[in-house]
Amino acid sequence: MSLPARHGVGEDHARIVTTRADEGLRPVVGGRARVASWTVPSNVEELFAPPAAIAGHPAVRGAARIADEVLAPHAAAADDPARGVDPAHVAQLADAGLLSVRIPRAEGGHGADDRVDAETVELISGACGATWFVTTQHLTPQGMSRGRLTGLADSAVVVCPAGQRYRAGLADASTLAGIATSHLRRPGAPAVRAEPATGGGWTFTGHADWCTGWGLIDLVMIGATTPDDRYVFALLPATERPGLRAGPEIPLAVMAGTRTVALDLDGLQIAAEDVLFDVDGPAWRAHDLARTANTTPASLGLLRRVLLELERVGLGRERAEAVELAAHLAELAADRRAEVYALLTDVPLGVRTAERTALRGEITELTVRAAHALVAARSGSAMLLTSPEQRWAREAAFHLIQAQTAPLRAAQLAAFGAGTPLRRRTEIDTAV
Ligand SMILES: Cc1cc2nc3c(=O)[nH]c(=O)nc-3n(C[C@H](O)[C@H](O)[C@H](O)COP(=O)(O)OP(=O)(O)OC[C@H]3O[C@@H](n4cnc5c(N)ncnc54)[C@H](O)[C@@H]3O)c2cc1C
Repeated sequence: MSLPARHGVGEDHARIVTTRADEGLRPVVGGRARVASWTVPSNVEELFAPPAAIAGHPAVRGAARIADEVLAPHAAAADDPARGVDPAHVAQLADAGLLSVRIPRAEGGHGADDRVDAETVELISGACGATWFVTTQHLTPQGMSRGRLTGLADSAVVVCPAGQRYRAGLADASTLAGIATSHLRRPGAPAVRAEPATGGGWTFTGHADWCTGWGLIDLVMIGATTPDDRYVFALLPATERPGLRAGPEIPLAVMAGTRTVALDLDGLQIAAEDVLFDVDGPAWRAHDLARTANTTPASLGLLRRVLLELERVGLGRERAEAVELAAHLAELAADRRAEVYALLTDVPLGVRTAERTALRGEITELTVRAAHALVAARSGSAMLLTSPEQRWAREAAFHLIQAQTAPLRAAQLAAFGAGTPLRRRTEIDTAV
């Protein structure tokens, strides 16, 4: 196959593309990629371009600008534990209302819908996975502080005082929150137990393996299991205190600059006014399965970014197979993305959960495949720590396990096996 004739294809162009890719070129919203003085039509970009009303929304324009000018150039540093996510960048996102996209304008948000929100997340995560991951923690406590979570029956929740206390700061993200809750998904004995204490409070004891953003967040939401199968969520200042100790930063293969620690809870006293939600166990588990079945726009943002770069590397280095593969995978990805957003915006949470789970499994597998295809297309220089391709491959792996549930794991493993039906070999010929 020969490359389509395009302006600017050749070694000079390759150098420009490579430099910009290393620095992190933002996927331009709305149709055409700008590469130095050339204009290169991008099939991938056109497939992912949102409708004009979304592309022109102030939140999307703000996200595109910050992603391009602030986050992408810092992404390698944010990935590095010695430097890490820059608190000033988190503050810029908050100030631009990008941690409050769906919050009403009167409370400091954009009052936008889910699709606009998803577009901003795609742009942010495609620019810097680590900064996206620190900031995404905020959204669950922010939602809970408003007294209800979409898809969770009001009757399953006792709404407690901490939400009202922190609601305003969480809404406009002037107060940033993190979470330590994924241990609630594990089967077996609870990792963090909540025992009733006098005065309506609780005593938390146990170990939470994961809490991202320690040192960057103002508040931490900790989930614990009660003896009668309920979950209590406390919202506290994110600082050590008697009964609460944070471990050292966990050495990580990805998201290493996100200041992720474990928390030890040793008889931590939780006052009644520090409780956010007290929720029925089965209802919470059902809600969590429904919620986590949705593909995260962050995975789609990385997929979009990686496919754009696959196309650019192919064009810049005259590797026709890369251009062809980028076009093929982008068509598939754009189709699945449309399904994801239709389910997100048009179908109530809790409906078509199996379909959502299968779709998320397929998309996370596709993201890993696309990221590895980009490594193959870029070749050895993809392995330089100064090259973004190796980081994107690690981020793609991270999207497999982020908020992973047992059904999602099964869907991912099915997706990994789908292209190659298992065939048992009866005999191996070692002579060839
Ligand atoms: C970089 C990163 C940041 C994360 N940040 C958060 C966060 O801020 N808040 C949150 O709630 N969740 C966070 N998670 C958890 C993430 O959502 C879970 O990885 C996912 O839900 C899978 O759960 P698991 O770790 O329990 O799985 P598994 O790997 O299946 O864990 C199974 C076993 O491994 C052990 N184990 C798991 N993690 C650790 C650990 N860190 N140290 C020692 N032993 C361990 C457990 O004891 C358990 O028996 C983070 C994960 C990663 C990788």
